[in-house]
Amino acid sequence: MIYMSIWKKILEFFRGKRFLCDDCAYDYPSACTRPERPNATSCPDYRKRY
Ligand code: SF4
Repeated sequence: MIYMSIWKKILEFFRGKRFLCDDCAYDYPSACTRPERPNATSCPDYRKRY
């Protein structure tokens, strides 16, 4: 799984954007079943993780 995380960071770097899921409170499988997770760039259910 760490490779997925590193790959995601590399993609973010080249795309110049970040994904909402990275700091979303629902970014785990039992809380979010949206197909765009973990790479959502817009999401009506986004809630910032504290
Ligand atoms: S609720 Fe939206 S922003 Fe949060 S993890 Fe799911 S898809 Fe990503």
